[in-house]
Amino acid sequence: MNVHEYQGKSLLKAYNVDIQEGSVAETPEQAVTIAKQLNEKFGSELFVVKAQIHAGGRGKGGGVKLARSIEDVGRLTRQMLGMQLITHQTGPEGKKVNKVLIAQDVYYKGESETKEFYISILLNRDRGRYIVVFSSQGGMSVEEVAEKSPDLIFTEEIDPGIGLQPFQIRDIAFKLGLTGDAFKNMQKFLAGIYDTFIGCDAQLLEINPVLKTSDNRILAVDCKLVLDDNALFRHAELLAMRDLNEEDPIDVEAGKHNLNFVKLDGNVGCMVNGAGLAMATMDIIKLSGGSPANFLDVGGGANPKTVEAGFRIILKDPAVKAILINIFGGIVRCDRVANGVVEAYKSIGEIRVPVIVRLQGTNAEEAKKIIDNSGLAVFSAISFREAADLVTKIINPKNKE
Ligand code: GDP
Ligand code: MN
Repeated sequence: MNVHEYQGKSLLKAYNVDIQEGSVAETPEQAVTIAKQLNEKFGSELFVVKAQIHAGGRGKGGGVKLARSIEDVGRLTRQMLGMQLITHQTGPEGKKVNKVLIAQDVYYKGESETKEFYISILLNRDRGRYIVVFSSQGGMSVEEVAEKSPDLIFTEEIDPGIGLQPFQIRDIAFKLGLTGDAFKNMQKFLAGIYDTFIGCDAQLLEINPVLKTSDNRILAVDCKLVLDDNALFRHAELLAMRDLNEEDPIDVEAGKHNLNFVKLDGNVGCMVNGAGLAMATMDIIKLSGGSPANFLDVGGGANPKTVEAGFRIILKDPAVKAILINIFGGIVRCDRVANGVVEAYKSIGEIRVPVIVRLQGTNAEEAKKIIDNSGLAVFSAISFREAADLVTKIINPKNKE
């Protein structure tokens, strides 16, 4: 799960990390009020207006603007809210801006006296370690740095059993070229971001830029935080940060019904129980000359409700020309699934594509009878191969006579 920059920063702050202060606004009026508060509290004369979308590269795409007065904050917010922001991470259609973060300007005294760093912490599953990736060449062109001068990007491995050690923290701060107060402040900063990463069960915490201000403070100016979905059950407060507007509506729908759904670009919709069988089903569709439109694992306890939800989700894809339901009746009996298919069929009304059902396992024969006697345009099969061949025959009638 991704969270917005403003949410990530609030978590950093809770873990004692210094941040570029600000608050989120959904209207120009709120934005102006926030700017006034920032002015009173921190004496800020300048502000930044930052589009809150789940994508990076906002600076280059026009989603981060410097406001030179409080009125300017209102004007820029009005411009930004509702716009379709396109960055190199959003795809050509862009993402709609529903919220903006109004933040204090922290580049006071000019850019020559500030320095931007890149720091991220991530989980490296291959190594079984956390890794801190850092560079003194942070800011908006860090991708370029990684490509052209990878020697300027450093890493430090953390043993999860003992955590980020003080000597490692000093080493990182030293390699970033810091001295004096900035060196000390960076130590506190690193310890704080590691605590945030661990405390939130994150998969990735990326701060770019980390800013050294002209008075040697070390601040998080941006924050990208990706949380581990499998750990969210123990973080109700983080789950509450989920923004469904930022997620694909089909994924949201699938999540509601506990379906594991991944959209693919073929034309055979698949509904399968169990991830392994779902993978094998996609393979055999390919082998038979077809192409899967999705991966969909309805889970072990498939019932009429999940089958119906699966149908509805698959049918949203206009590319789908046929649906293959492949269920192994182990925990769930085949006749129960067959009744589920028939019920779902009736409740959806007309299903515009042929449906091939292959049910194998407990009560498979009864299930086939239920399908065959239902009077619906559903084809039943018992063997896997038979089902896949049937699908491809329907999709490419010319290829297979
Ligand atoms: P991203 O482009 O989506 O990664 O958004 P960032 O939050 O990293 O902001 C992009 C850029 O905006 C930063 O690299 C800074 O150069 C600039 N920026 C952010 N905050 C301020 C600020 O307070 N003052 C000024 N002058 N520039 C800022
Ligand atoms: Mn950034």
